[in-house]
Amino acid sequence: MSGSSSNNSRPVARRVHKGRVGGCLAVFVIIFILMVTLINGCTKKHQKNKNKPDTESTSVSSQTEPEKQKAPEKTEYIICIDPGHGGDDIGSSNGDRLEKVDNLRYATEVYEQLQNREHVKAIITRTSNDTDMDNRERAEFANNAGADLYLALHRNQLEDHTANGVEIWIQDEANVVDEVLGYKLLNALESAGIQNKRGVRSGYTNDSQNNFQIIEYTNMPACIVELGFISNDEDNRLFDAHYKDYAAAIADVVMQMIEEGYLNQVAANE
Ligand SMILES: [Zn+2]
Repeated sequence: MSGSSSNNSRPVARRVHKGRVGGCLAVFVIIFILMVTLINGCTKKHQKNKNKPDTESTSVSSQTEPEKQKAPEKTEYIICIDPGHGGDDIGSSNGDRLEKVDNLRYATEVYEQLQNREHVKAIITRTSNDTDMDNRERAEFANNAGADLYLALHRNQLEDHTANGVEIWIQDEANVVDEVLGYKLLNALESAGIQNKRGVRSGYTNDSQNNFQIIEYTNMPACIVELGFISNDEDNRLFDAHYKDYAAAIADVVMQMIEEGYLNQVAANE
């Protein structure tokens, strides 16, 4: 009996054992599948979460630094240099010294310095002191050329001969690009050794109401540089000694405006 019982019990035990093993396996497989599913889910979630900030950070960085992404958009930027006055319009004067001559002197230097810079095509409104051009013609010259930036280059004058230094004029309804341009020019010219920073101003220049028209007629970022007072002897001395340094500072600002993407930003808004 014992033999038979033991003989009988063995297969039963084995069956029971087999059943337990099968159950365990099934439970293990279920747990394994559950774990794999959970791990997969977590990984996907993790990837999703990982992707989310990436997308967000890309959009944030594109908002805060559009310039660096857009900087290579154009292979060539057209920069219009406009030496103020000319011909019968001498501008301001101090004895034999005529503003139209000083303007052409430093504007030509800016123009030539820009010729050697990458991604720049410089154009200039006049190359002679005998050229007469009104503000409409100057603006049309820049607009028709599709200029990306326009700089009216002037010198200042006041009856008060102690008045000195540099002013930058932008439109009344200037956008942030004009303002950035203005402050960059002012700071760069300060580093180049001007006597005084008089600020970035909007509205009408001391020079004349006409000067203001020019930056209204142009349809790209634009400003007027009043590079020192022709009525101030020290400003004139500094101008003669440093006009090439001033021109280099202005050309450097043009490059910064391109490299930092400010000129693309405007194109994108248009
Ligand atoms: Zn002027």
